[in-house]
Amino acid sequence: MSTYVTANPTTGGTEQEFPGLADNEIDGLAARSLEAFDSWRRTEVAERADILSRTADLYEKRAEELASAITTEMGKPAKEAAGEVQLAADIYRWYAEHGPDLLVSEELDPQGAQSSIVQTAPIGPLVGVMPWNYPYYQVARFAAPNLLAGNTIILKHASICAASSALMAEIVHDAGVPPDVYANVYASSEQVAQLLANPAIRGVSLTGSEGAGAAVAKVAAENLKKSVLELGGSDPFILLDSADLDRTTTIAARARLSNAGQACNSPKRFIVTDELYDDFVRGLVEKFEATEVGDPADSSTRMGPLSSISARDTVAEQVKTAVDQGATLRTGGSPIDRDGAFFQPTVLTDITPDMDAYSEEIFGPVAMVYKVSSADEAVDLANDVQFGLSGSVWSNDISKAEQVADRLEVGMAYVNEHGTTLPGLPFGGVKRSGYGRELGRWGLGEFVNTKLRRTA
Ligand code: NAP
Repeated sequence: MSTYVTANPTTGGTEQEFPGLADNEIDGLAARSLEAFDSWRRTEVAERADILSRTADLYEKRAEELASAITTEMGKPAKEAAGEVQLAADIYRWYAEHGPDLLVSEELDPQGAQSSIVQTAPIGPLVGVMPWNYPYYQVARFAAPNLLAGNTIILKHASICAASSALMAEIVHDAGVPPDVYANVYASSEQVAQLLANPAIRGVSLTGSEGAGAAVAKVAAENLKKSVLELGGSDPFILLDSADLDRTTTIAARARLSNAGQACNSPKRFIVTDELYDDFVRGLVEKFEATEVGDPADSSTRMGPLSSISARDTVAEQVKTAVDQGATLRTGGSPIDRDGAFFQPTVLTDITPDMDAYSEEIFGPVAMVYKVSSADEAVDLANDVQFGLSGSVWSNDISKAEQVADRLEVGMAYVNEHGTTLPGLPFGGVKRSGYGRELGRWGLGEFVNTKLRRTA
């Protein structure tokens, strides 16, 4: 049995222990989820939508408590934590309001029969494996559309987010979701594999690293279960020209340092045309150095600690390797000398394709800046990684920027903004950033049976 132990990355101290799932509980858990599916799928979709709407209300009602739990557990600054709780509420509400229309059956040309109808039917119990970086938002992306569609959920959250995952379960249950329709479990990786092998389980959605994605997708494939994977990214931020470089560097710094740089779709590679390069690097370094790093519970703090001491050490090692391999350190580069998992906002330049940093994701407050001499070179560099989550192009010439955006091998391309997430917009990537989509109508379409009913 694996125990989940939470810690406070601001102090480094241990917080709480949560007893894990026992191996002999796994089959019963899957069987209860399947049994619950049988009645949940038969409830009226309007009733399920009402429950999602109440879930959204409860997120808002308990916003402070929810925000404070993740500030403690993974170090998210208070303001950002409050924003994330609201986004999760917005996602539940979006599916409550728009979901029922998206599930309406479609009548096709009967072509000689009385009727030909395509229904959108749920497929059954699903396992959700979620990461710690946006504990509420990630779960809402998976749970809201699937609960609305009539699927049931077994949720395994990141082990460092055990308290916030318990709060989420409490909220959906208080809103009216039966306990076996949404079960929160503290399972190990091996137990996730055992669950996926159980015939009652019909699919899995994982958000996390490439390694975890590949491991879970392999077990899902062996058992012929569908998987959706939302994995890492090393998103390009391509700057072609700027009428206000000070504003551009402010936006760039905020985007990169939000959540202490621990966002899959954070801009990690800044690709800048040569005439702006020196000024951009100077401006970015200035903004990074001016960022208030400190206690995430303090409302004036812009950047808190990383999620754990080991996450901080991984970033420190990646930066050290980059510098050892010849990259130039423009600012930062070290853990901050205080308790907790703090790391300095860091800017690296002169990164070449032979260095590890060129192709890997750095999941922390580290910006890499590249110089290019043309839009074509920017596109080649942007696409020269195995990731393909999102990317942005910045220019006053919108049509030129849109043409560049169209050439990016990503799931989400932005012009003059980066990473906007709204409940109705699709979210997901290509290449090693994963497959499948979440949010909007696309998220509702992943785990459903597009079922034909034709009556002669
Ligand atoms: P992680 O180590 O892969 O953990 C994510 C989840 O997978 C956790 O619940 C973890 O459980 C679980 N897990 C790990 N190995 C597993 C296995 N072999 N079988 C089953 N479950 C397993 O990822 P992370 O380091 O927490 O998160 C950061 C990564 O997630 C980054 O690469 C980031 O880019 C990516 N991410 C992607 C998106 C997106 O939408 N594309 C969004 C957010 C984050 P434990 O916690 O118990 O180990």
